Parts: sequence; C-alpha cells; structure tokens
Amino acid sequence: MADSEDSTGAAEQKNTFVMKGIGVSPGIVIGKAYLFDRRDAQIPHYTLSDPRLVDGEIRRFRKALRDATKELRELKAKLRELGEGMEPLYIINAHIMILRDRNLADQTIQNIRKRSVNAEWALQMTIDKYRGIFGRMDDAYLRGRISDIQYVGKRILSYLTGDRQVVLDLGESVVIIAHDLSPADTAQMKIDRVLAFATDIGGKTSHTAIVARSIKIPAVLGLENVARRVTTDDEIIIDGSTGVVIVHPDPEVRIRYEDKKRRFTEAQSELLDSALLPATTRDGYHVEIGGNIEFVEEIPSAIAHGADGIGLYRTEFIYINRKELPSEEDHLANYRSIVGVPGLSWTTIRTFDLGGDKLSPDQRSPRELNPQLGLRAIRFCLKEEELFKIQLRAILRASSQGKLRVMFPMISGIEEIRIAKDILTEVKAELLAKGEPVGTDIELGAMIEVPSAAIVAEELAKEVDFFSIGTNDLIQYILAIDRINERVTYLYEPLHPALLRLIKQVVDVGHQAGIRVAMCGEMAGEPLYALILLGLALDELSMNPLAIPKIKKIIRNATLHESKILLEKVMTLRSIEEIRDFVAKSMGERFPNEFPLEKT
Ligand code: PEP
Ligand code: MG
Repeated sequence: MADSEDSTGAAEQKNTFVMKGIGVSPGIVIGKAYLFDRRDAQIPHYTLSDPRLVDGEIRRFRKALRDATKELRELKAKLRELGEGMEPLYIINAHIMILRDRNLADQTIQNIRKRSVNAEWALQMTIDKYRGIFGRMDDAYLRGRISDIQYVGKRILSYLTGDRQVVLDLGESVVIIAHDLSPADTAQMKIDRVLAFATDIGGKTSHTAIVARSIKIPAVLGLENVARRVTTDDEIIIDGSTGVVIVHPDPEVRIRYEDKKRRFTEAQSELLDSALLPATTRDGYHVEIGGNIEFVEEIPSAIAHGADGIGLYRTEFIYINRKELPSEEDHLANYRSIVGVPGLSWTTIRTFDLGGDKLSPDQRSPRELNPQLGLRAIRFCLKEEELFKIQLRAILRASSQGKLRVMFPMISGIEEIRIAKDILTEVKAELLAKGEPVGTDIELGAMIEVPSAAIVAEELAKEVDFFSIGTNDLIQYILAIDRINERVTYLYEPLHPALLRLIKQVVDVGHQAGIRVAMCGEMAGEPLYALILLGLALDELSMNPLAIPKIKKIIRNATLHESKILLEKVMTLRSIEEIRDFVAKSMGERFPNEFPLEKT
C-alpha cells in the first residue's frame, strides 16, 4: 500500500504521515493509539497511585531481570552438557547480552520514575522504542534483531507477571494498532474502550474486519507496517470508509476530519430513520433482509438497523476465550437468547466453523500448513462428532422457542450434508424419546461456499430447504486467493465473471428445485452490487447490520425489472474491468446521491 510523509511547520507538531490500507469497517475516529502486542493480554498496565511505590516497582523489575538472566545461564549450561552445538549458545549469549544492556534497564527504570507506571508497562515502552529504532534501519539483518529484543522482553515480562492471565484493560478509549488480531485477541479486550482497529495484515473478509463491523467500529487493515510505525499514545485518525490512516495529524487535517466525522454520523442516522421499512422494490418484489452476527449482544443493533431476522449467526465465537469447551447448557443458554426474540422473524444458526482463519479447533493439534484448505467447519464437526452433537442438541432444544433455520458451513458435496443430516436426525430422535420439545418447522440449509457445492447444487438442493451463498469463502476458493492474505487482496473480486456465473447457476438451480436461496457473504451488504443481487432474484440478503439501511434504501427505490435488465447486460460482459465500469456507471447514473461519480 502507498505510504507518504509530509512535514508540518508547527514547532511541537510531530511529522504527520499518511498510510493507506483497506477500509473494512466504515466510520471516522480521531484518538490515541495503543500498540497491541499479544503478550499485552497477559500484562497489566497501570499508573502508580503513590510515588512511594516507585522504588518497589524498580526492585521488582531488577529482580525479574536477574531471574531471566539466571534462567538463560542455566539453559546455556544444560545445552553445553547435551552437546547441542555452538549455534544455540551464540543465540543465548546474545540474549544474555541484551538482558545485561544498561540502556534497556536504565530506560525502563526511567520510565517507571518519570511516568509513574508499573514495571511491565515501563518495559514495554522501552521495547516499543527499540522497535521503532530497529524498524527504521536499512540493514535487513539489524532490522531483524528486534525479534531478539522482543524475545528477551517476553522473558522478563513472564517473570514480572508470573504468567498471570490478566484481561487486557485499556484504561482510556484507544485505537488498537496491531500486526494482526485474532478473534481471541479482540474477545479479551474491553471492547467498549476500543475506538477503532488498524492492522498490518488482513482484508475485507478477514475476521478482524467482520468483528469490527459487528461491533460497529471503524477499521483499516492491510496497512503492512502500521505496527512498526505507530506507537502507544500517538495521535491518530482512522477512516474506515476510505482506508486512510493519518498519524500525528496537523490541526487543519484534524478539523477537516472532525467535520467528516460529523457528516458520517448524520448520514447514518438519516438512513436509520427508514431502516425499518421493508425491502420491497417499487414493482413489488420483496427480499428478506438478515443480519450477520457473532455475538448475541448484537441483536438489538440488528433489529434497529432493520434486519427481518438473523441470516447468519457465527456460533464459533462461543468457543473463544474459554479454558473449557462450552457445555450443552452453555450453548442452550446462548441460543435461547437469540431464537424467538421479539422483533426478529427467524434466526439462522450456522453450526460452528472452527479452523481456517477462525480459531484453532484443537489447541493440541499441530498448526496446519494451509488451514483454509484444512480441517475446518463441517469437516471438523464430522470428525469430532461428539462435539458436534453437543451443539446440535442445544440448537434443537432451543428450536421450540421460535422460527429456526440451521445451516452447515463448508459443505463440499452430497455425502457431508447427508451425514450431517443423519446426525441431526439421531440427536432429534434421542431428545424426542426423552420428551424434550423440539421445533416442528426447523429449516435446514447448506452454505454454498466451496465451488464443488455450487457445481453439484442440483443434487444438494434435494437435501435441504435453503441455500445460503457464502461469498467470502466462495471467492477465496474459486479464485484461489487466501482471503486473509493482503498480498493477493487485489485479486479478491466479487464481480469476477466466473463468480457471477456460478452464483447465477446456484440461484437458478435452487429455484428450479423450489428452495429459497440466500446470500450471507460480505458481497450481500455492498450497495454497489444491490441491483445485481436483486436481478439474480435472491430471496434473502444477510449482511452486517450496519450495511442494512443503505441496501434497503436502494432496494426500495429500484425495480426488479430494471435489475434484471442490468444483470442480463452484466452477464454478457467478459472481464472484471468491463463489469466494474459498467456497474459503477449504471449505479452512479441511477443513484447519483449514493454513488457520486468520481472526480477526475
Ligand atoms: C462466507 O464465507 O461468505 C461466510 C458468510 O462465512 P464466513 O465469513 O464466516 O466464513
Ligand atoms: Mg465461510
């Protein structure tokens, strides 16, 4: 991504610099940065309430330094005994030298004294500083040395914290800067204190993006080196709509962005006013609108933004941040708070999709070399049948409470859906035998997100009540691009003719078989594609709740007739570029307020 610097004249003003990444969750935030490092999750950050505590904190730091050095010396002796060769000894020597580096100790002690912060925080400030210095070095070898310093820092920290598990407390509200954030990382933050995310890696459909949209905070990903260039307390602007990140903004830029922020908020509330109107076109075609959610806490927002139901509940989030696997009762309590909720006509529970970029299904199993093609979603469920049954039992037990749809992720062929159905039937029979009430009109669906499933959709349609097209994965697999690898994001293109043709085939085949066809990938919430999706005659579009009002507005102002004409033309075009240009031009002319044509 492009990265430019411009200097400002103000005396105390630090150099403003602008970075460009991928805007994945809209909104503008102006705030203080907080550099997140995974080990932060284990370390407490606090200021010392009494100056008399400073000396004790310094003693604690010195002791941790001694302990870490002792540990490395012992390790060195052991390796010598084992005759493991000289290479590891050189590395350990280098680490001991870092531990004994006066600057590291002096700087940290100075941070404790001057800033009145705890030893862990003070040490982290020192390491952040080193990271900045080393990161700017031209020599790749020296640049790489920062990993040694980080490693040593980690060892000292483990002595300071005693490896205690402390949930990250951010203090004031901050913009989280990180190389990458796993769902588990975000889950352990006090989310109400997070203003925005900015990370080095990731793209529109990676889970950080999905989480950001679901908790409605701006996010810019794929910045490549934001974690190296920004440190805690830097002033920062995040524009999640355009992907622009501005560090140390000068006053003029700041004012401009405050104005932009105000306009963005006004536009949002204007749309919200009409969000509850149905998504029915001017010629009477009705599309059901679902909300995609990860946490039950998002339900009020989904309703307020105009969701008719929940089109995708990503249940894998129930598994994160737990020492123990969730019990059937844990699942049940969760589903009971989502099924039959007033304001929602239906709920679609997707059975858990662990693996891939989601979460490691089993912490004990080795990391897969290619997790996106690995033991993920339904594959994992069918392998760990008992785990799957626990979830299915809870889903079925909650089903007596309201209209429920269940769908299976990553179905690749007819065998998987049949086995999954057999397990569901078995679980249902067991519950009925015990006299447990189970819903009578549960609908069963298959996610269409693996190309093979799309190709055999005709057969799959005979097995289920509905399809839900997961474009995030379907695009990844049909175009062979890792959805979280920012180096290939430029190839991630929902308007690829191959994808449009395949989606059309799935919808047509589904309709011929008399089943409903939904779309729940991010594509469904992209306003630019709204007429294409209408033209395809999808029965349901499910998206992050924030996107609903605008999509509904476009649908209400459009006709099915014009959408079909637009789609017909799109299907004759042969390249992404032709389709992109045609769609941008048509939508710009048709909805000039929503899609102002770009100035040249
Ligand atoms: C998809 O793949 O489009 C989808 C909706 O599922 P997820 O993003 O959770 O993989
Ligand atoms: Mg998917």
